[in-house]
Amino acid sequence: MKLSARAQAIVPSLIRDASRYCQELGALNLAQGLPDFPAPEFMKEAARRAIASDRNQYTDPWGLAELRAALATKYARDNAMTVDPDREVTICCGGTEGLNLALMALLDPGDEVLIFTPFYENYRPNLATVGARPRFVALSAPDYVVDEAVLAEGFAGTPPRAVIINTPTNPTGKVWSRTELDLVARYCERYDAYAIADEIYEYILYDGAEHVSIASLPGMVARTVTVSAFSKTFCVTGWRLGYVVAQTALTEAIRKLHDFLTICAPAPLQHAALAALEAGPEYYRHLRDLYQAKRDLLLPALTRAGFQPLAPVGAYYVWTDARVLGGADAREAAHLLAHRAGIAAVPGDCFLPEGQANQRLRFCFAKSDRTLEAACRALERLEVVGHAR
Ligand code: PLP
Repeated sequence: MKLSARAQAIVPSLIRDASRYCQELGALNLAQGLPDFPAPEFMKEAARRAIASDRNQYTDPWGLAELRAALATKYARDNAMTVDPDREVTICCGGTEGLNLALMALLDPGDEVLIFTPFYENYRPNLATVGARPRFVALSAPDYVVDEAVLAEGFAGTPPRAVIINTPTNPTGKVWSRTELDLVARYCERYDAYAIADEIYEYILYDGAEHVSIASLPGMVARTVTVSAFSKTFCVTGWRLGYVVAQTALTEAIRKLHDFLTICAPAPLQHAALAALEAGPEYYRHLRDLYQAKRDLLLPALTRAGFQPLAPVGAYYVWTDARVLGGADAREAAHLLAHRAGIAAVPGDCFLPEGQANQRLRFCFAKSDRTLEAACRALERLEVVGHAR
């Protein structure tokens, strides 16, 4: 069988793979980024009502007009962005479709995209799908700061066509500061590059951190595609509901691609998402408090077990050194953890450039307290080879 070079270039997801072997072993799944607790009742009730009242056919391909209008209100309220709902917003199937649409609309085969590492696993295969190439620039622990030296390296030689900014970042939990985003904005303007902003964790922030959208910075509205979704904010990763915001000409391109790819996002769930956007500030406060408490449950347990975790400032992952497990590499560390403690985590390989040796694991704490407490007990019992206990 002759397969396309594109299909052959893509390796299966390590994140989804971890979920599969987790099921086989009956391990606690701290691997994939999805809650194992119920979605909010008001969302489920709104979805039930939408299906019962027959909101079951294709919608406007760009998304329900009321939902786009509600998103424009959200962007004005929370992101300091002025957005035209009729010409600058597209509802799509998850942040995943949104990111793919942005890449398809902006890139040609051979184009380069600047990606800061560690990065979200999907970016590499998403670029391979459009024939574009990643240009990786490493950020360093503990703060993963983006400064002039980092950007000079990223833009050296032929500048990249686009930069992916993921704030808050999966897997490190970094939240980009306004100063860092200003710097990226200056480089994008100087080198005529686009910013693709993946803001899917925009409401999951700790210790008073502030989310800044790069599209809100001077000069950036015309050269940014902002992608976000209902998945993480409303604990409905399986609904596959996301949105893309970009200036009119770009949105026209994105809408054409979206229409022929998926036609529209799930109709009843778009109606339910309207209810989500009516949630008041107490919902967002509750979300932050919920995840901050979960972070503060898992983090000390990992530290006590001898890991060297960094406290995330946003998103719901812990990115940690796992040498204490004694594996030769991250994959072996993940394997040892699953067999010794019955916990699945994701090996660092899929968040780093290919072939980069590492001893890192990513743990997801978007889990019920019951799951997290069981994980903490298993970590307590974990026999480690290491020193750091
Ligand atoms: N972007 C980041 C950084 C993610 O972590 C994820 C999912 O984990 C996505 C995008 C995909 O989002 P969605 O489930 O809405 O497609």
